[in-house]
Order: sequence, then C-alpha cells, then structure tokens
Amino acid sequence: MEEKYEGVAIGIDLGTTYSCVGVWHEQNDRVEIIHNDQGNRTTPSCVAFTNSQRLIGDAAKNQAATNPSNTIFDTKRLIGRKYSDSIVQKDCLLWPFKVIAGTNDKPTIVVNYKGEEKRFVAEEISSVILSKMREIAEAFLQTPVKNAVISVPAYFNDSQRRATKDAGAIAGLNVMQIINEPTAAALAYGLQKRANCVDKRNIFIFDLGGGTFDVSILTVKNNVFEVKATAGDTHLGGQDFDNIMVDHFVKEFRNKYKEDISENSKALRRLRTACEKAKRTLSYDTDATIELDAIYKGIDFCSSITRAKFEEMNMNLFEKCMNTVNICLADAKMDKNSVDDVVLVGGSSRIPKVRQLLQEVFKGKELCKSINPDEAVAYGAVVQAALLSEGSKNVPNLVLRDVTPLSFGVSELGNLMSVMIPRNTSIPVTVEKTKTYYECYDYYNKYSVTVKVYQGERITAYDNKLLGLFNFSVPPIKGQLTPRGHLIHLSFSIDVDGILNVSAKEETSGYKKGIAMTNQYCRLSTQEIARMIQEAEIFKAQDMEFKKKVTAINALDDYLHNARKLMKDDGVGSKLTPVDKEKINSAMIKGESLIDGNQQEDMSVFVDLLKELESIFESSKNKINKGYSDEESDWVLVDDFLVISFD
Ligand code: ADP
Ligand code: MG
Repeated sequence: MEEKYEGVAIGIDLGTTYSCVGVWHEQNDRVEIIHNDQGNRTTPSCVAFTNSQRLIGDAAKNQAATNPSNTIFDTKRLIGRKYSDSIVQKDCLLWPFKVIAGTNDKPTIVVNYKGEEKRFVAEEISSVILSKMREIAEAFLQTPVKNAVISVPAYFNDSQRRATKDAGAIAGLNVMQIINEPTAAALAYGLQKRANCVDKRNIFIFDLGGGTFDVSILTVKNNVFEVKATAGDTHLGGQDFDNIMVDHFVKEFRNKYKEDISENSKALRRLRTACEKAKRTLSYDTDATIELDAIYKGIDFCSSITRAKFEEMNMNLFEKCMNTVNICLADAKMDKNSVDDVVLVGGSSRIPKVRQLLQEVFKGKELCKSINPDEAVAYGAVVQAALLSEGSKNVPNLVLRDVTPLSFGVSELGNLMSVMIPRNTSIPVTVEKTKTYYECYDYYNKYSVTVKVYQGERITAYDNKLLGLFNFSVPPIKGQLTPRGHLIHLSFSIDVDGILNVSAKEETSGYKKGIAMTNQYCRLSTQEIARMIQEAEIFKAQDMEFKKKVTAINALDDYLHNARKLMKDDGVGSKLTPVDKEKINSAMIKGESLIDGNQQEDMSVFVDLLKELESIFESSKNKINKGYSDEESDWVLVDDFLVISFD
C-alpha cells in the first residue's frame, strides 16, 4: 500500500476552463464538492491583474471583457510546453494576453499589474488557481489544508505532469499524487456503482471539456481499476466550438456592416462570452440569440443561431472526437460490444449531437449520465486523496492501477526512436536495458557519448518530445580512428504520477559511471520554485492588503453617509458649536474627496480619517450632552452612529 499522509487531504480537478475541489466528508462517508464564495461548485481557471488588485476565479472572468490583455486563462494549454511549440504559437494568436519566449524557450505571460509590467510562467498562474481552490476548501473546513491530489488529462506528457506538480509546490501544497482525469472519473462512477464492482466491467470514459479531450477504457474488477488504453487530444474542447461560432459571427458582422470586429480585442472577448452562452443554450434549446449593445464602433449587434447550424459548423470536430473513440477501442483491442458502460464527463459532453454520435458509435447503447459531468473528476480525485490520507475513515477500499499514455524511449543510430516503455504499460514500472552508443568528438575537444530521452509515438526520435539528455565524457583511446562503441545501461522508472525517472551507466570495461538526467527542458529549477513560493506569498499578502483597504474605504464611506444624514436630516448640525461644525465639515469634505478620488492613497489615510471623524464627533457629543442634557434622545442616534468604526 502507498505511503499515508497526515492531515486533511483535498482532491482538485485543475481544469483548462473550470476547476473543482472536494473533500471526504467524515460524518457522511461521502465526497463533498465544495462551492466557492460565489456559491458555484466550479471556479473559472482564470486570473486577472488590474491597476489595484489581483482577481481569481469568477471575479477574474467577470471583468475579462473590460480588461482582456491582463486576464489570463487557458494556462493549462501552456504548462510544460515550449514557446516555439506549434500548438503554443497557434494559441497565442487567439489569446488577448501577451505571451513571449522566456528563458529556455519557456512561455512567459506578460501583464500589467498596479501600473508595472509583471511576468509569469504557466506554473505560477496555475499555482494561483490551486491556492484559490485550497482557500475554498479551507473556508469550508475551517482548517488549514496541505495535502492534495491533482488531476491532469491522461494525455499529459512527462513535462506537463512535472510542471503541474511544480504549480502545486508553488501554491504551498503537498501534491500526494497526480491522477489522470478519466481514471478519476471512473473512480467516481465506480464508487457510485459500488455494488456492481465485484464482477468485471469495461468502462469507457468520454471526457470532452473546455480545452482538452480524453477517452479511456478501464476495467473494474473486485474494486481494482485498471486503465487499458487512453487516447485524446490536448487541444480539442468547448473553446474550439466557441471559436468557430465567434468566426461565424465575425463574418456575419463583416457582411452586414462592412466592419471587422476582430480588430478589437474587447469586442471579440464580449462576442466570445456571448457565444459560449449561446452554445450552452443550444444544448437544451433549438436556437439561441446573441445581443450585444455597442459591440464595435457603436453598432448594436443582434443575431441568432440554430442548433442545426451549430452542429453543421462543428461536425468536423465532433467526428474527430468519434475517430479518437475508435482509435482507443482499437488500442485496447476491445470490441464495442464488450464495453459495459459509456460514461459522459466534461461540460461539452452535454452537447446533444456529441451524445447522439457517441451513442451511434456504441450501436445505440444507453449512455451513463448518473454522475455530474462537471464534478466527476474532482469527485474521483477526492476519493484518491482520502485513500492516501491517514485520517480519512470509511473510504471504500479501491485500488487504482493506471497506464502510461505515451511511450518513453531513447534515440538510436539513424535517429530512430528506440522504445524503452511502450504506451499503455501499467504503472508504476521499471525497465532496464543495455544499448550500444558511439562516441563523438564534442565542442570541448573531448570524446563524448550523448543519450537523449524522448516521449511520443513517432518513429523518428526528433519528432517526439525531448525530455532530457545524458552526456558522458569518455577518455579517448590513442591511435583509434573509428568511433568506439560504449555499452550504456539504461534504467527507466515511471512512478504512480506517470512521471519518468531515468538513470544511465556507462559500462564499457574500465569506465563505469552512473549519472542522473540533466538538462530537463522547460523544467523549473528548485531555486526558481523557491523564489516563486516567496513571490506567491507576497502576492497573497498584497491581495489581503487590498481587501483590508477596501474594507477601510467602505467603513469610511458608511460613516460619511451616516454623518451626512445626522448633520442634515436629524438636525444635529444645528446643535454643534461653530468650531466643531467647521471641523466636522472639513473632515467630511476631505473624506468625500478621498472616496471620489482614485483611491491610490495608503490604507492608513482612510483609517486615520475615520478615526479623526470619530474623535471629533465623540468630543462634540460630550460638549453638547453637557449643554443639552434634556435632549438625550437625539444622541441615541449619535451613539448608534458612533458604533460604526473600522475593525
Ligand atoms: P475543463 O475540464 O476543460 O476545464 P469542463 O469539463 O469544466 O472543462 O467543461 C467546460 C466546457 O464545457 C466549456 O467550454 C463550457 O462552455 C462547456 N459547457 C458547459 N456546459 C455546457 C452545456 N450545457 N452545453 C455545451 N457546452 C457546455
Ligand atoms: Mg475537465
């Protein structure tokens, strides 16, 4: 059995578009999905920066249209990738925020925060979302949370998994395990069908979310979950359907008004939001309308779209999904008829045409809709978190077995990919092999042997993802003209998170050397992570500071409102001495101009003014009380009023 962790553990579905968090409910022996401060059970994976503050989740998404260049979303598409990656290049064209190539070709997001340029890598933005999910859980549990299981798409490669773990570390979380999303969904489904888990069942998970698409085949027997095959596309989901609809309306606008909305990022963002809404409507209605006032150059844009048109526009993508389903079945060498359950996961699995096509692929089989498609992944992550934590009681004794979604290997002579661990191998696993490599003369006038480690399915190693390399400097043999063969012993281990660890040893007689993999492209160093943890703390402190300032401003605003009422409506003004009246009036004018200004002053300015007002009122009350002792009743109001003070 795995290592057990102390303390509360949460499960987080860190989605491309929405994230979800849950915890094992001890009293009820079940998973509790936790709602955020807005009352929503999923939180947009969105972070925004403004001149005064940082916003996360719903608050960030809600202001996206007015602040598009500083509202960051979709970072899951960037995580663990290089800037020069063609997928990243393509995405950058669609995003309203700026992404540049940072150190080691790492994509770096550039934003304006409090009037200054700030740069973030994807791990940092993801860590902000993870911190938010953790806070949501902490607010619900009323206790600090450290341990978490985080889900990733099954198709995530080694770098993407490592980068997700790094994001967890920056958020100050102890990532107990990375779990594949479809596996988590199967766990959720299996748990609900607990009674039937004794007999062998083949479960097909179809997860079509906002940015990623995953399909998996799992078998469940005696509560053991084994992933048989996975397939998918890290770049296919609801946002693609949104983009197609956006293009459609941009064209319509051009035809109608001879103007190009796409030139204006704010207009485009508003249109995209409206399209997403219309798309959701089309899942239950046969047509949807779009109404956008003054969308571009003062033009009001009204239009509509039918479900049939939406389906026609996206048919290629829907069919692509079904092809992937067939590939996965072929990989698992499984006949459609042997699939017992087809489970729908991800918000986009609600699209009726997708359901219809999927049902046709499975020859009319009824699809399982018993679990909430938005929460299934988080639900499974919670179960795994509970299984791994010492404190959780009455968790069903399930065992999870997963497979690696992509092959791992090394480059061979002729640059061919020599596979060490083929895809769909059960993990954890260790494979050891000895291979012959030839030395070459390197830049430093030394003979060296280079072993390059790749992940992917292409025959040519260069077409796969380079994960890292080993460089052995070997002593040259005098008088030898031809390259010498070296035996290199390679050991590849994949852990439960699907992360690869490699070691290599040069074994040719007289020169044995073990070495750990160097040059892991795109990976953050330990120092960088430590720096980012510190920075994350600073940002968090600034967020807190901003909240306190807003509270101080509101308290002053409230006080001024009541003071105005008291002075005018309740006639207290006429009872004050001229000096006190003047003092109060001038403090109130000062306060009003502070509130109406750009509020850039320090929090202390607002707090101090409130204190000043309170003290002037207090002293004038005392004076009046002496002279007007028979009018105590008026001062009941003043007393009430004086109770309002800044906490
Ligand atoms: P992810 O896991 O990629 O973050 P989710 O599973 O949360 O994504 O799904 C989000 C996507 O689902 C979004 O693109 C959203 O527009 C889409 N979606 C949500 N509800 C519906 C619906 N009723 N009909 C169609 N699409 C929907
Ligand atoms: Mg998802």
